[in-house]
This record gives sequence, structure tokens and C-alpha cells, in this order.
Amino acid sequence: MKDSVDIAIIGAGPAGTTASLFLCREKIPHLILDKSVFPRDKICGDAISGKASDILHKIDSAIHREFKLNTDKFLPCNGILFSAPNGKTLEVPFSNDLSQLKYAAGYVSKRFDFDHFLFRKLDRDFASVIEGAEIKYVAHVQEGIELHYFHEGKNKILTCKLLIAAEGDRSLAARSLGGYKMNPENYSAAVRAYYRNVKGMHSQNFIELHFIREILPGYFWIFPLPNGDANVGVGIPSHIVSQKKINLKDAMQKIINEHPVFRERFHNAELVGEIKGWGLPLGSKRRKISGDNFLLAGDAASLIDPFTGEGIGNAMLSGMKAAEQAKRCMEEKNFGKDFLKQYDEEVFRNCGDELKLSHRLQKLSRHAWLINLFFNKANRSKTLREYLPVVLYNPDNRKILVNVRSYLKLIFGH
Ligand SMILES: Cc1cc2nc3c(=O)[nH]c(=O)nc-3n(C[C@H](O)[C@H](O)[C@H](O)COP(=O)(O)OP(=O)(O)OC[C@H]3O[C@@H](n4cnc5c(N)ncnc54)[C@H](O)[C@@H]3O)c2cc1C
Repeated sequence: MKDSVDIAIIGAGPAGTTASLFLCREKIPHLILDKSVFPRDKICGDAISGKASDILHKIDSAIHREFKLNTDKFLPCNGILFSAPNGKTLEVPFSNDLSQLKYAAGYVSKRFDFDHFLFRKLDRDFASVIEGAEIKYVAHVQEGIELHYFHEGKNKILTCKLLIAAEGDRSLAARSLGGYKMNPENYSAAVRAYYRNVKGMHSQNFIELHFIREILPGYFWIFPLPNGDANVGVGIPSHIVSQKKINLKDAMQKIINEHPVFRERFHNAELVGEIKGWGLPLGSKRRKISGDNFLLAGDAASLIDPFTGEGIGNAMLSGMKAAEQAKRCMEEKNFGKDFLKQYDEEVFRNCGDELKLSHRLQKLSRHAWLINLFFNKANRSKTLREYLPVVLYNPDNRKILVNVRSYLKLIFGH
């Protein structure tokens, strides 16, 4: 016998749990399935942006408060330290006056902890949760969508009127319902590792992005973790990886073992666990993210910022918008693609411009000379340095960075 529900969510990462938490808040019953059993690891840089933190606040201010107070698991981070291909570094705090910040602008937390934190907040009165349930097949049927999944050694079938597909990068629903095909131009590959005893970590927990010539327009990152370890990785657009035949693990280890600065900083460092790789579906090309009876959210909808590699914020944003759309569907009893289009509009109204700008910045960051020029000038000009937080961390102001001419104007105008 087939089970049936009105709303099913696949994936309990940030996109799926955010959708579920908003549905719980509206007292709308639904089912959420994940192939993993929580807590589980997710390969990630573990940097939680201000956008993600803001959405957490929208979900529930008490949950947000609990998150902010738990600094053992969620480390407040106050800015970014960049380095240019010529080795010049630049510190850009999230605000020119850190004491004026109401909340830390960002956090770093192992996804093992952050995702588990969200997962534990699901309200079981409205969210029926099935862990260890792997979706194997999805298709349209007369009632809506049929899901085939494997759970506790058995194949099971479920139908739903509305599917929120939030199963991440390798989403089956994105491919079989949304017609998604991976394009290396809109995709990045990355590896991540945890290291203990990395020297020279920033005293105010700045995350570090290093633009190293050999891996441009990608970067090498070092992010501080709450337990004193570091999340370390390399991310590079996939078409560059294939063009230059880069092996990401080798590229990262070469930086750690041979780069004059990092060789020193990693001298006594110890790898904790393995170096692991995963993909980043970038939001550099707008795609259709809904259709009859389904919505795609998070990585399943390719919403990762092409310049920074940040995806948790937009995963949570789309989860929230998916829940709002689900509520409208239930009220209007309409699950048709024309009605669901509102979801695409809502999502891209909130992050579309930002994604476009970041795509242009990603293209500009291919030019080592331009990054060097920028860092040299910023290091000399206090006015430019003070202006940077305003430009970098406010997507509306980032527009000034999107073409070489306005970029040069910014540099020479300050
Ligand atoms: C190396 C790397 C570094 C990154 N660094 C950052 C960073 O520092 N900050 C940032 O904001 N973003 C970062 N990102 C991007 C970020 O990890 C993703 O954008 C984010 O996890 C997307 O959330 P999601 O909920 O859409 O998907 P996911 O977090 O991938 O969650 C998907 C869930 O679906 C489940 N699932 C998958 N398939 C199935 C199936 N068939 N059946 C049932 N369940 C299934 C999985 O178990 C998982 O729990 C990074 C990504 C990578 C690869």
C-alpha cells in the first residue's frame, strides 16, 4: 500500500530544515525524509553567513538566541582576511566599528553541529521525520509526485501533492523533475579538511581567503573552528579544473607543504580525518526551480554564490520561500506550475541580483594583476579600507566592483 501526504520534503540540510521549521510555525503537517541519520557530516567550509543567521532569527528569535549563546559550537567571526597573489594581506572587518555590531556578522560551525542544531528544532507535532530513508526514484503521477525510497531494508512508496526537493548537490528531483544538467561553467569543485595546530590564526576569528596564482579564480581558505582546529580547503570552478587538469587534493597539499607562508603556518599542523571533496552548484545562471507539484530549494536549485562559495544562506532563504509557497498552495488547493512560479520570482527577487554580481566578480578574480593592484592600493589608503566593509558585505553596494572600469575608479578614486 502506498502512503500519501500533502507535503513532503526530501533532505534535512539547511534548505529542508528551514522549510520544515517555517511549516511547523504555520502548523502545517508535512513529512521530511533524509538518507542520513543525524548528526551527520556535510563537506563544507562551515562558515555561516549573516544572511543565515538573520533567517534563523526569522524562524524563531529564541532559537537564534540559543544559537548565538552557544559559542562552544558556533564561533562568532568578525571579518575576512584576504591575501592577494603577490602575498599582500588585507583585513576587512564586517563593520568598521565592531563594538557597534548587534550580532556577530558571521559564525563558523562544523556542519555536523549546525545541521544537527536545526534538525533538533523540528517540531514533531507537525513534522513527521524519517531518517535513513534514501530516495531512489521520483516521478509525476496523477495524485502529484511519487517517491520511491529505501528504508530499514525495504523499498517503500509515497505520494505527495507538493514536493520540496532539498537533497543538495546531487538532487535526483532536480534532474528527473527539473531537467537539470550539470554545466562545468556553473559549478565548482572543492576539497575540505580539518587541521589541528595551524599557526597564526586571527585573534578575532576572521575567516581567511587566499587568492593564490596557481588556483585563480579559485581560492585557498582557512576558517577557525570553535574547538581551535581549522577548516581548510580549496575551491576552483570546474571548467578551470578540467582545462588546467588540476587535482584539488594535490593543489591543496602543495600549498600547505610548499607555499612560503603556509608551509610555515602548517609546520606542526596535523590532519584530522581525511581530505574530502564535494561539488558546488553555483547560481551563476538562473534556472527554473519549480514545476507541477514541486519546488527545488538550496543546492538542488543551484543557489550558491559564485564568488564566495557561500550556499547556506541562500539554502535557508529558499527553504523559507518554499514553505511560504507551500502555505499558499494548501490555501488555494493549487499545485500547478503556473501557480508555483511565484516561488521562482520570490527567490530570485531576494537573491538574483546578488548572484549576478557575484558571477561577474568571480570572472574578474581570474586576473591576478587586478587583485594585486587592489590590495596594494587598499593597504595604502585608509579611506578605501574603511569603505570596503560597506562595499563587500552589502550586495547592493557590490555593484561598484562589477566591471574593470568601475573597479579601477574605486581604486584610484580613494
Ligand atoms: C567544500 C565546500 C565548502 C563549502 N563552504 C561553504 C561555506 O563555508 N559557507 C557556506 O555558506 N556554504 C558553503 N558551501 C555550500 C554549502 O555546503 C551548501 O550550499 C549547503 O549545504 C546547501 O544546503 P542544502 O540544504 O541545499 O543541501 P545539503 O546541505 O547538501 O543537504 C542535503 C541533505 O539531503 C540529504 N539527501 C541527499 N540525497 C538524498 C536522497 N537521495 N534521499 C534522501 N536524502 C538525501 C543529505 O543527506 C543531506 O542531509 C560549501 C560547499 C562545499 C562543497
